[in-house]
Amino acid sequence: MSPFNPRVRSEWMSGQIAIALYRIAQAIQLMLRRAGQAHGLSPAQVQALLFLAYARPGVRTIGGLARRLQATLATASEVADALERKGLVAREPWPEDHRIITLRLTGNGRRRVTDLEGLLDDLEAAIAELPLPNQQTLQGALQHIVRRLAAGGHVVVYEMCWGCAFFRPYAHPENPAAPHHCAFMDAPLPDADTYTECPDFTPREEVPA
Ligand code: SF4
Repeated sequence: MSPFNPRVRSEWMSGQIAIALYRIAQAIQLMLRRAGQAHGLSPAQVQALLFLAYARPGVRTIGGLARRLQATLATASEVADALERKGLVAREPWPEDHRIITLRLTGNGRRRVTDLEGLLDDLEAAIAELPLPNQQTLQGALQHIVRRLAAGGHVVVYEMCWGCAFFRPYAHPENPAAPHHCAFMDAPLPDADTYTECPDFTPREEVPA
C-alpha cells in the first residue's frame, strides 16, 4: 500500500494524513526557498542562520550545523563558508575550549535572521484558525509522530531545557552566573542558555522517574 496512490489512500485515513504532511513539508520547502531568494540565500543558508540564532552555544559548530541540516561535515562547512563570505557569520574559538571553533552571527547576520523569522507565518496562521481543542489534539498527535520519526533517525528534535529530563533547575543557588545544571553534560547552565534549542533534549516523560 502506498499513500501516493490516490485510489488506495481514499479508503485509508493514515495514508491521507501522511500525504497531507508530505504536502505541508513541500510547502515549507517552498517557503524556505522563497525567503532565501528574497535575501540572496539558499534554503540551507536560511536554516543555518536560524540554527545559529537559537541553538545552545556549545552546538554552534560545523558538527552541530551538519547534524541540524542532516548533511555531511563538508556540506555544513561550505554553508558556513558562504555565510562568512556574505558577512553574516564569523568563526571564533569557543571561550571554554579554544580547540573548538564556533560559528557566531554577526550584526548583519542577526538582522537577516529578523527578516527571515516570519517564514512560517502562513502555516502558523492556518493552525491558529482551528478551535483550541483541535489545536491541542493536533499538537499531541504531531508530537507522537515527531518522536517516532526521531526514534527512527529521520529528524533531530531541538528543544529548550525546561521540559528536559536532564534539567536540574536552580541546582547551583550559590552561582548566579550559572544557577541551573545539565545532568547530560554534567555542567552548570546560565539562565539564558536554558532558553536555547538543544539536540540532546530528552522529554521528561520518556525517562522513568
Ligand atoms: S540535555 Fe537537556 S538539560 Fe542539558 S542542555 Fe540539553 S536540553 Fe538542557
